[in-house]
Amino acid sequence: MALRTTDTLPDAPAAAPTEAPAPLVDRHGRVHTDLRISLTDRCNLRCTYCMPAEGLDWLPRDQALTDAELLRLARIAVHRLGIRTLRLTGGEPLLRRGLPDLVARLAALGPELSLTTNGIGLARRATELKQAGLHRVNVSLDTLRPERYAALTRRDRLADVLAGLAAAKDAGLAPVKVNAVPVRGVNEDELVDLVEFAVDGGYRMRFIESMPLDAQGAWDRAAMVTADEILAALATRWTLLPVGRHDNAPAEEWRLSGTDHVVGVIASVTRPFCGGCDRVRLTADGQLRNCLFATEESDLRALLRTGADDDRIERAWRACVSRKGPGHRIGDTDFVRPDRPMSAIGG
Ligand code: SAM
Ligand code: SF4
Repeated sequence: MALRTTDTLPDAPAAAPTEAPAPLVDRHGRVHTDLRISLTDRCNLRCTYCMPAEGLDWLPRDQALTDAELLRLARIAVHRLGIRTLRLTGGEPLLRRGLPDLVARLAALGPELSLTTNGIGLARRATELKQAGLHRVNVSLDTLRPERYAALTRRDRLADVLAGLAAAKDAGLAPVKVNAVPVRGVNEDELVDLVEFAVDGGYRMRFIESMPLDAQGAWDRAAMVTADEILAALATRWTLLPVGRHDNAPAEEWRLSGTDHVVGVIASVTRPFCGGCDRVRLTADGQLRNCLFATEESDLRALLRTGADDDRIERAWRACVSRKGPGHRIGDTDFVRPDRPMSAIGG
């Protein structure tokens, strides 16, 4: 059974501070305003670029943050550290028991609130999540072909995802973004089709370069589909007009000539954007990470469970962010993969 502690949740959020908090800044001067929260490391799919077919151990339940613990950290982030956007992810965040209630309590803190999901189960939950205060969703969809989807995710669930996307749009969780990871020899011939699907459906398409964060350690730089290849594929169908990057967003964008549609490419490997990174990550078991590729974490769960006050947690948070490195160093000879895979960090 999932751990929930709604009985110990506060009825109302602690009052917001009257003064703006000091910025959450690292030693390179980057200010952090975006927190990615992993709600679980569990998933109902097994995407080949993310997990092995079998054999990945989930976190023991008692190690996962309870709702009350997670809300306390989110409140510290928003009220004391200047975090303005919260993104809920995983694993598969829709698997978190009591999600609408948690969303409502996070929304009450006042940040912009979004969710990254594989879309399974979204069809019946989109309206409820919107009403709870969720603003936007990103839905992962790598192929439009049912057999290919079943092979890539190892589950035959394409219809659920398509229904989830439509429901998210109807519920007003806009803009609904579609995330796809191009994989060599698997879906790289479908990039134009995916953009056309997004244009027709009123979604925003984004392609993500695959990263060395799969749980099985099979990532191979030589085999990844690069941003240049993605753009070359799209250029066979559209003229691409560069739009650039919004604020510190990871996606670089291009407008399809003659349309209002914009396509994003997140090229963490070949066009790293670490210099403008404003993100910090909290894992489902309460470990703070200053980078997707960090090799050290700060144990906020231990602080929570040993009675630390908010000042102590704030100090630990600031210290962790302050130590952030200048960049991820993928490609350097001494690059070390993080111990945790993407699904256990929160993508
Ligand atoms: N389960 C949800 C989903 O799939 O959207 C949320 C978690 S998933 C880890 C978040 C995003 O990370 C997805 O868009 C997924 O495609 C992407 N992802 C997973 N493994 C990746 C990898 N090795 N390289 C690049 N992106 C990856
Ligand atoms: Fe699950 Fe998302 Fe990883 Fe796919 S990418 S296995 S949906 S966590």
